[in-house]
Order: sequence, then C-alpha cells, then structure tokens
Amino acid sequence: MRADLHVHTRYSDGTLTPAETVAVAVESGLAALSITDHDTVAGTAEAAAAAEGVGLITIPGVEVSAREGPYDVHILGYFVDTADADLIEFLRLLAEGRLARARVILERLAAMDIHLDFDELTDRAAAHVLGRPHIAALLAEQGHAATPQEAFRQLLRKGAPAYVEPHTVTPEEAVAAILRAGGAAVFAHPGLIGLDHCLRGLVECGLSGVEVYHPYHTPDQVERYAAMAAELGLIATGGSDSHGAVGSASRIGQATCPMEVVEALRLRSRARSSSEEEGPRAV
Ligand SMILES: [Zn+2]
Ligand SMILES: [Zn+2]
Repeated sequence: MRADLHVHTRYSDGTLTPAETVAVAVESGLAALSITDHDTVAGTAEAAAAAEGVGLITIPGVEVSAREGPYDVHILGYFVDTADADLIEFLRLLAEGRLARARVILERLAAMDIHLDFDELTDRAAAHVLGRPHIAALLAEQGHAATPQEAFRQLLRKGAPAYVEPHTVTPEEAVAAILRAGGAAVFAHPGLIGLDHCLRGLVECGLSGVEVYHPYHTPDQVERYAAMAAELGLIATGGSDSHGAVGSASRIGQATCPMEVVEALRLRSRARSSSEEEGPRAV
C-alpha cells in the first residue's frame, strides 16, 4: 500500500481538477494521496469529497514557496488545518505579493514607455505561479527585446531598471506557519534545491521530514537523503510532484512512500488525538 504525497492540481499549476486527480490516484492503485498545491489549500476539500467511498485516503497538504537568499526553497505541509485563518492569510499574502510585484514591474516598464497589459500577463501565467519569466516572455513576444533572456538581462534582473524586490518568506517562516496550522513540515525535493545546510537548520525549527523519493532525484540523491533523514530523525517522505500533464512530466504515483509514512506524519501533526502517545520520529 503506497502513498503519493506530492501532487498539484488546477488550483496551482497542475492541469487536473482535484476530483480528476483522485480518480487517477485510485486507478493507479494508490492507498493515499496528498494534494500539495503551491501556496494554497483551496483544492483539498474537493479532493476529500471526491475520495469519499472510493477507498482512498486524502491528506490535506500544501507546498509553500520560500526564499533563502536567491534560492527557491519549497516546504510541504501535511495535516494542516485548512480552515486555519492565519494559514489562509499567510498563503494569500504570498500569492498577492506576486501579483503586486508584477503590477509594480509593469508600472516601471510603463515609465520607460514599454506598455504591457496586466490581464494579458495573468492570462499567460494562467494558474501558474506568476513571475518574471512570464513578463520576460511577453516583452520578447511584443518586440521589446530579442529574446526573453535579453528582456531579463536588460530590464528585469536584480539591479535592472524594472527590477522590484519580491515579497517572500524564509524557509523558517514557512515551517512556522505550517506548525501554527497544526501541520507537519517537510523539506521538498532537496536534490533540486541543493541547500543541505538549510535543511539541517530547519530541524531545530520543528521540521518533521524530508522528501527523499521524488522523480527527479537520482539514485545517489535518494540514498543521500535517506541517510540524512535517518541521521536527523526526519520522516522520509515521497511523492510524484505530478502536475497532471500527460507525457514528459511525472505521473501520479511515479514516486511514492509506504503508508507508515502517512501515519508518522499524522502523529507529528496536531491531527493526532490527544489520547495517543507521541509516535516514532523516523520511518
Ligand atoms: Zn516544489
Ligand atoms: Zn511541487
């Protein structure tokens, strides 16, 4: 019995609805699924409703985008209280911060007589996490730069005339927000981030796990992070990071972890009932 603890839906940059995601998970023979959309828990209730009576356990989840210096760090939260007002506000500010930043960038560009349409930009980003790559692509498309790379270099990179500092949270703040909402925090795909010192530092902040099993992790990285999980007393989680697309992207169920991991995460979260003993920290 396996669990896929990292799947995106249309509520962030995936292509499937939560109900479609649940259907694929059932077809794939999974026992448990966590929808972990970027900076939103909006799809979790739909997934839970769709999973009723079909023998699939759904775990409320989220993938929070944090920044450590110039690097993106993703922190997964499991068994979070999806009705927690502080968590919803924390996630709303992250999403709104991105929109506000894009608006200010467009204002700077307009002052240079480069006019981009905000609605066109958000349409282009669709449900994706809106960012400078979308602005760069639009600039190139409308002839303001030869290529998106050129647009980035001349206008959008740090120090360039249209650069605007982002509203970001640190990995510590992301972990704290997940803990405040009663969840268990897990460092996502460390092999794609390469900030092992940051991972280690978060253990003191209450990090519960590390995503060891991920489609883009090499066998060496799986071994490395499994060893690190054992060393640090972290739960070794896994998931496909599927965005639902057919073809090149990872499929739902492509990377999984055993069901004991789900129970270990539950025991680390506030979702455990008060009568239960504290569970083992490592799996
Ligand atoms: Zn991620
Ligand atoms: Zn992801």
